[in-house]
Amino acid sequence: MSHHRPGVDVIVVGAGMAGLVCAERLRRSGCEVLLLEARDQVGGRTAGTEVDGENVDLGGQFVGPGQDRMYALAAELGVAVFPTHTAGANLLETETGRLRRFRGMVPKLGPLALLDVARAQSRLDRLARTVDAEAPWRGPDAAALDGQTLRSWIDRTLRTEGGRRFLTLACRAIWACEPSELSLLHALFYVKAAGGLAAVTDVEGGAQQDRLDGGAYGVAAKLAERLGAAIRLNAPVRRIEQDDSGVVVTAEDGTAWRAGRVVVAVPPPLAARITFHPPLPAARDNLLQRLPMGSVIKYVVGYPAPFWRQAGLSGAVLSLRGPVAMTADSSPRSGRRGVLIAFVNGAPARDLAARAPEERRRVLLDGLGRLFGPEAATPASFVERNWNEEPFARGAYSALFPPGAWTGLGATWRAPVGRIHWAGAETSPRWYGYIDGAVRSGEAAADEITQAEPR
Ligand SMILES: Cc1cc2nc3c(=O)[nH]c(=O)nc-3n(C[C@H](O)[C@H](O)[C@H](O)COP(=O)(O)OP(=O)(O)OC[C@H]3O[C@@H](n4cnc5c(N)ncnc54)[C@H](O)[C@@H]3O)c2cc1C
Repeated sequence: MSHHRPGVDVIVVGAGMAGLVCAERLRRSGCEVLLLEARDQVGGRTAGTEVDGENVDLGGQFVGPGQDRMYALAAELGVAVFPTHTAGANLLETETGRLRRFRGMVPKLGPLALLDVARAQSRLDRLARTVDAEAPWRGPDAAALDGQTLRSWIDRTLRTEGGRRFLTLACRAIWACEPSELSLLHALFYVKAAGGLAAVTDVEGGAQQDRLDGGAYGVAAKLAERLGAAIRLNAPVRRIEQDDSGVVVTAEDGTAWRAGRVVVAVPPPLAARITFHPPLPAARDNLLQRLPMGSVIKYVVGYPAPFWRQAGLSGAVLSLRGPVAMTADSSPRSGRRGVLIAFVNGAPARDLAARAPEERRRVLLDGLGRLFGPEAATPASFVERNWNEEPFARGAYSALFPPGAWTGLGATWRAPVGRIHWAGAETSPRWYGYIDGAVRSGEAAADEITQAEPR
């Protein structure tokens, strides 16, 4: 507390997409802003690296219709979007390792299971329409929906074993968790926030429709260029104090900055690790204690060419056998090289993480070899990103509400606490957990501040 740096109007904590957008919007409205980021890089859960001279996304990467704020941001920054590769057949790998080709989103599961899944999907959509995305804890059925897990709903609603297994896989693919970890109300809220189940699952017309030229990380990097010296990297925030006159934000090395207000734009489990003084209201703290992240390991595997296209395959796989839940073609726009991305999510991610690195690599490449042939098992490059091990994410894609959290503590979800405001993909009632949700949340937090203190 002894050596405070000179004050600014607003400090933003966390330079993911939410914090970057928030800081830039505040700056434009005339505020002096400081953006403190724990890592040596901006972007958070949109992270990039270069493989064989191409930028690849290790985190979030797809955008789709309805994600208007992200499209607008990309356009403003001169980042082009292009369609995700979809030509060719998708594959389903069964539990026993049989491969079945299919088109569209739902594979050939057998007529009864297929009917079962279709019924469950339309029920989920119907139920999701009853949820108020601005306040999911409200609504006549909120308590009943929040009193059960997605698992118990699946077990009660689906009549076939095949249907149940497919929904378990869908849960891993969508939320990166087991159905037993998720409140049914949260699953419905998430679907509502995206505008329906098809928006969540589909490529064409859904959230996976498009990619960003140069990667999603490129958007974050361009925003960071605009903010320039307003960003401090390697500054993990450990303490936030507030009183009537303002806030003091202290980083790990003891450096402290003063400001009028602070925006906390970090995932909930990371916000819970910051010491607040005075302590956060009990209900707010309780909510932060309850929101774990999903479990994701993303693999980016490079080849000299997208050889699977010649075999009539799209590169998209859903696997009931595992441990890979799904793959997709993430080759550069030019098609000059081939890139497959693969996701190991939920319990299989935790199991795989316990194995040695060379064993994980072998498991992955054996799996890709089974799906796409021997060429897939000898890639030119192989990158693994276990998001659970990232000290400033601790999991992905997003935080998950278990039963009881929304209805018990939801009222504290986004409400500012004095001079502390909240942003991040987990605070958005539209596209919760997505990059677009992060953008919207950053805009909303900036507007909250400028409206509270008109300039
Ligand atoms: C593998 C993967 C795939 C995904 N796929 C998609 C997709 O295709 N499409 C999509 O829309 N979304 C996707 N997502 C989700 C999307 O990436 C996130 O929802 C979004 O990027 C979150 O942005 P954010 O700014 O809210 O949080 P974050 O990106 O998590 O940013 C928070 C920032 O705060 C920093 N931080 C944390 N603690 C502190 C601290 N104490 N002090 C200072 N800084 C701190 C972190 O380092 C980080 O930079 C995916 C995510 C992952 C990981």
